[in-house]
Amino acid sequence: MIAEVIVDIASGDVDKIFDYLCDETICAGMRVAVPFGRSTAAGFVIKIKETSDVPTDKLKRVLRAEDDFPALNRECLLLAEKLSARYSCPMALSLRLFLPAEMRRGTVRESFRTFARLAKEEAVLPARAERQRELLAFLKENGEADAAFLRERFGFSALKALEEKGIVRLEKRRALRDPYREIGGGEKEAPVLTSAQAQAIEAIERTEKTVALLHGVTGSGKTEVYLQLIAKRLKEGKTAIFLVPEISLTPQTLSRLRERFKGEAAILHSGLSAGERYDEWMRLKTGQARIAIGARSAVFAPLENLGVIVLDEEHDGSYSSERAPRYNTFDIAYLRAQYHHCKLVLGSATPSVETYRRAEKGEFELVKLPERINHRPMPEVSIVDMRREVKRGNPSSFSALLRERLSSCLAEGNQAILFLNRRGYSQTVLCRDCGYVAKCGHCDVSLTYHSDENCLKCHFCGTKYRMPTVCPSCGGAQIRYLGTGTQRVVEELKELFPAARVLRMDVDTTSGKEGHYKILKQFSAREADILVGTQMVAKGHDFPFVTLVGILDADMSLHFPDYRSGERTFQLITQVAGRSGRAEARGGVVLQTFDPENYILRFAADYDYEGFYRYEIGMRQGTAFPPFAKIVRVMVTGGDERETVEVLKTIYARIEKIYQKNSEKFLFFNRMRAPVKRVRDKHRYQILMRLFDGSPLKEIYEICSGAGSRDVLVEVEENPSNLS
Ligand code: ADP
Ligand code: ZN
Repeated sequence: MIAEVIVDIASGDVDKIFDYLCDETICAGMRVAVPFGRSTAAGFVIKIKETSDVPTDKLKRVLRAEDDFPALNRECLLLAEKLSARYSCPMALSLRLFLPAEMRRGTVRESFRTFARLAKEEAVLPARAERQRELLAFLKENGEADAAFLRERFGFSALKALEEKGIVRLEKRRALRDPYREIGGGEKEAPVLTSAQAQAIEAIERTEKTVALLHGVTGSGKTEVYLQLIAKRLKEGKTAIFLVPEISLTPQTLSRLRERFKGEAAILHSGLSAGERYDEWMRLKTGQARIAIGARSAVFAPLENLGVIVLDEEHDGSYSSERAPRYNTFDIAYLRAQYHHCKLVLGSATPSVETYRRAEKGEFELVKLPERINHRPMPEVSIVDMRREVKRGNPSSFSALLRERLSSCLAEGNQAILFLNRRGYSQTVLCRDCGYVAKCGHCDVSLTYHSDENCLKCHFCGTKYRMPTVCPSCGGAQIRYLGTGTQRVVEELKELFPAARVLRMDVDTTSGKEGHYKILKQFSAREADILVGTQMVAKGHDFPFVTLVGILDADMSLHFPDYRSGERTFQLITQVAGRSGRAEARGGVVLQTFDPENYILRFAADYDYEGFYRYEIGMRQGTAFPPFAKIVRVMVTGGDERETVEVLKTIYARIEKIYQKNSEKFLFFNRMRAPVKRVRDKHRYQILMRLFDGSPLKEIYEICSGAGSRDVLVEVEENPSNLS
């Protein structure tokens, strides 16, 4: 027999199918080792056939199968093919997405445990062998037990004696690691659905459309809808995928899933150890677990017979991959839902403008949960004009109103969350005499001061620098930090409310697998009164004692040079505001801004998604931005500037030919240095396009896929979320 093999080398040169001889133990989807050139390569069997166009005596033979099962099924092979065609990337790259990286590298060490079981029913023991008798009784009662446990409980020699007599047999067996043992696990009954929730489930199940958008404010019971939908599909013997933006930020969703589904749920995400990830993957592959939970890569979970896919917080930017192939999680989820004839449920309190438009046009089923569970009102938002505060001579991060509200919140024994758009002590270090700004030596960006380590850090490459005491440029002493940040807010709080216990949550305080989780757990256990943080405090936590949310610099994210900055700001504010007043007590929000008349802020303060959407979609149409156009950026990065520019010019010339033939499809087409000119010592150049119509995309991908070299990287980004 002949195996068609894709060699696992991510290079355009070997991106074709090679035929190998094989025996009948090899089947499609298996990982194999094959002779390749003068060495051995890993490969994926994509098809088995009877004959080859290559003469048999010229064919080499598959050396071995790496597993005794096909790691990839028919669906994976089909999807990988589609991905490679869409993004013009080597098949090997697409196939890799379906496997845990550690499996490919062969670096997982399976963990084994030894179990003891009875080998004989009847046994005669010496009269004095008390411990052996006890151990035996225990095994008769329990069938089998972990050997380490038995040794600890009955003594090392008792087990050894029984084993030597042939009464007990020891077996080594693979043990699957359980990464989130400590989260959840308690028994929880599902609550009775409200009529709005029941109607939502009915609407999702009834529609003939594949995709449903569940739009409901925070706390309207969306998660409960997902859980019960999943439960229904599991009952039918099906499986489910539950996607969340960033798993470490959603421990509560995680515990709810674990409480409801116990061992049926497997978690896939990058914070796990290699072994843990592999084991969770295996539990899904072997059917021991039927729900995959995770961030975007979990969309590739090895599940058969999918019954539903949930994509929670669908608007979140993390659903776009940042590595080739730069897939969008929605697209993969959609293809899988079509393959399995199951529903894809998108959920959000603040859907992306693009998604909402598709729902409005009838492409997706629009399902609404208009009210919070138990009709709790949304917290009231007060807008504070910070220009007036400054005029009144208040230079601090806190307006008079926020201070007053904080003071009474603390006095009532409640908790507060303070949200800041930026991180670090301050944005930049600037010399007030000569205007010198401290910059990274490897990247074209300014550095950020961190007071806890008294140093400057580059947020692009992580390099640390000493904080200068005099200006390195003019020698003056007027070197200062500008702006504000989480650290400074914490320091100001200490002065204002010395008795308050304050927790800080930002990129710097949350390293490690459970960094976020620990801080959130502390806050939720009321070990602190105030939580100060950046974007990550905005996500879906549920803290019943939080009655005040302060948004310190609401307009910061409005000034990003990104067509989505309005949308982002609206989403952020709505999300943070939703943290207040989740339980009985009515919550309040203080929104501080230097731009109090801003439309986006007004809509956010009124929880008026529809109003925001109308305004925003009008703007996008008027200015021809997505979804009315597509922004495409070709990024060219390389260590050698001349070579990088050469590659840029070659690509530009080839795309220019498309442009000349189809100029009506292009709204904008130009090449330039990227706004951040250098990162990690690599020069960055870009070709920027705005397309009315996506039809030239295929050719653009084809041009770019072969254009890079060993030293120059070429990437195509569609509607990039960051244009730096
Ligand atoms: P969302 O995902 O929209 O933020 P959740 O599903 O988390 O909403 O619901 C908000 C709160 O209401 C949670 O504490 C949840 O446990 C509770 N809840 C949801 N549905 C019900 C229900 N049918 N009966 C009682 N409590 C519910
Ligand atoms: Zn740097």
